[in-house]
Amino acid sequence: MLLPLPLREAYDYRVPDGMALVPGDFVEVPLGPRRLIGVVWGPGAGTVESGRLKAVVRRFDVPPMTEVGRRFVEWVAAYTMTPPGFVLRMAVSVPSALEPPKPMLAYLRKPDAEPPPGFKMTDPRKRILALLADGPPRTPAELAEEAGCGVTVVRGLAEAGLLDPVMLQPTRLGRPDWRRPGPALSANQQGAADDLRERVTSGCYSTVLLDGVTGSGKTEVYYEAISAALEQGKQALVLLPEIALSAQWLDRFARRFGAPPAEWHSELTGAQRRDTWRAVSKGEVPVVVGARSALFLPYPDLGVIIVDEEHDSAYKQEEGAIYHARDMAVARAHLGGLPIVLVSATPSLETKVNADSHRYARIELPSRHGGALLPDVELVDLRRDRPPARHWLAPSLRKALTDTLAGGEQAMLFLNRRGYAPLTLCRACGHRMQCPNCTAWLVEHRLARKLQCHHCGLQQPLPHACPECGEEGTMAACGPGVERIAEEVAELFPDARAAIMASDTLHGPRAIQEMVESIGRHELDIIIGTQVMAKGHHFPMLTLVGVVDADLGLNGGDLRAAERTYQLLHQVAGRAGRGERPGRVMLQTFMPEHPVMQALAAGDRDGFYQLEAEMRLEAGMPPFGRLAALIVSGEDPTLVERVAMALGRAAPRSDTVHILGPAPAPLALLRGRHRRRLLMKAPRSTQVQPLIAEWLDRVEIPPAIRVQIDVDPYSFL
Ligand code: ADP
Ligand code: ZN
Repeated sequence: MLLPLPLREAYDYRVPDGMALVPGDFVEVPLGPRRLIGVVWGPGAGTVESGRLKAVVRRFDVPPMTEVGRRFVEWVAAYTMTPPGFVLRMAVSVPSALEPPKPMLAYLRKPDAEPPPGFKMTDPRKRILALLADGPPRTPAELAEEAGCGVTVVRGLAEAGLLDPVMLQPTRLGRPDWRRPGPALSANQQGAADDLRERVTSGCYSTVLLDGVTGSGKTEVYYEAISAALEQGKQALVLLPEIALSAQWLDRFARRFGAPPAEWHSELTGAQRRDTWRAVSKGEVPVVVGARSALFLPYPDLGVIIVDEEHDSAYKQEEGAIYHARDMAVARAHLGGLPIVLVSATPSLETKVNADSHRYARIELPSRHGGALLPDVELVDLRRDRPPARHWLAPSLRKALTDTLAGGEQAMLFLNRRGYAPLTLCRACGHRMQCPNCTAWLVEHRLARKLQCHHCGLQQPLPHACPECGEEGTMAACGPGVERIAEEVAELFPDARAAIMASDTLHGPRAIQEMVESIGRHELDIIIGTQVMAKGHHFPMLTLVGVVDADLGLNGGDLRAAERTYQLLHQVAGRAGRGERPGRVMLQTFMPEHPVMQALAAGDRDGFYQLEAEMRLEAGMPPFGRLAALIVSGEDPTLVERVAMALGRAAPRSDTVHILGPAPAPLALLRGRHRRRLLMKAPRSTQVQPLIAEWLDRVEIPPAIRVQIDVDPYSFL
């Protein structure tokens, strides 16, 4: 019996008379005073004599976890060096889904209801009403959790007549229809679609890279693979990096298949999660679109997996079980004997190399659908073409903005930095405002009138006087964030309709969707955005994209800095000129000769990849070598240091396996915890997991210290 706890092994239980269990069955078992959900993993180990074993309490009436599902849990656990029970917890993330669905009591806000006399509008009460003003009905427990108060507050509001009770019926999920015809495909698209269809129909494992420029019809083509899976009576899983930002994708899917897919991500309500999990396990959900965690749903018979924007770093889960969803998806497809399609206009170097060496198949879509041209990319050399002091837009970009607006078209300014200014310092003494819990500057958010830490969320008011020297009015903002660019735009183009699009200025998926629609209707002239708007949106009137600081991602010494910058800027550039009018992209940079800038300007994607691959090969770095990181953290810096040093001394070393560190992590302090890192570098053929397991066995780790293992690290912070 495997339990969803951080345990290394399965536990034995006795099966009471009259109960029949098969491997994969979901059951309730006692553990100490608690009752837990477990999964039957196999016959007992027999180490405890059967008279002393506790008995299984009951079996849940849901289909058992499949053999493939169980092997997948074990595989992920072994690869990421996470206890299997911890991985299992991701697969049984909604315990209520195991019970037969009951209608649940939920509340809506009663329109126009006034509080009765004497009813005090406390903050928690206000928060609940505000939550309900925008959103679906939710159960008292969900409301209480979201508002951070007790359920009695919700009941109080209901008794005061401010809420309308509704009974939530199980969510009805639509059934996409594969018989509906798609658009007429171009010859190239048809070839690609036929190839994918054939793979799905053959029902064998294969990994395919669907490699095509933005707007070439990759989505249209992989819809055909989904349609083929449905025709076979199987399910399809589509992973998207940020499902909450993908309203356009969902609408498009619904238009193509006549019904929306089931969604799986963190924004779902508890009832939606319960109903979706249950329906998936019974095979009633043909298509799931979701974030990383959708990989762990109980599919009875998956026919294809699609990983859209496969290069996106959002696929790496950095907390809890640390895993890369794309890589785990490939393993899932392999275990289940089904095809997986990795989709990107700028594949990860890992995937590119696998395709070049024919480990993965490759399907190419080289041109935009309907003949739309790829935008023209120009470099703006900030050393010559200088913005005025305390301003950030160069004269040539200002001119291009003027022309675009005069032509009745839209422009976007991209800066991947939220807030007003990334650093606040005192002009008198030079003091810099730093987060007390993290190695990070506090970011000024002028709209919210706060300083904020982007790592731990700490907020404090902007100081009027310098906290160090006490001078008044000397605190100055350094550098730009999107809010500051918006200020400059308002100064330059007072009549233009401009808006900021960033995750902290838009609250939730709905707000993002509204903004996207209003851009589509041309209700805005200039959009100033962060990464949120780099994602697959399609705006026909958007013809100019200005990248305020193209060098931003290149600093910091990250292994993938150049690759990521290239991918991000390429994706941002792809927003321009998607309609009939040609697009223009301007990259402001201090390093126009940098290979990333040169490749972007020349449209030479493969040249860039080749150079990057050569450098990685030379250095023995992924994908040509292997990395694994240990992050040692704790509240006591001396103890952290001591454990890190002990790990350093006990490290496995050989001619081929090298250990770097221990070194203070770049974020040496994060949320109040001190952090040291060790990095293992080994040849690609080395299995790092057994080496790390033996290594950790040699060192005593005190309970106050946490050692996280990150196999194939993507973040080096
Ligand atoms: P990608 O996923 O490669 O960025 P999309 O599939 O989103 O490309 O296609 C870009 C645009 O072109 C979309 O609006 C899509 O509907 C349209 N499109 C692509 N292929 C076709 C086709 N064969 N017929 C009609 N429209 C198409
Ligand atoms: Zn912080």
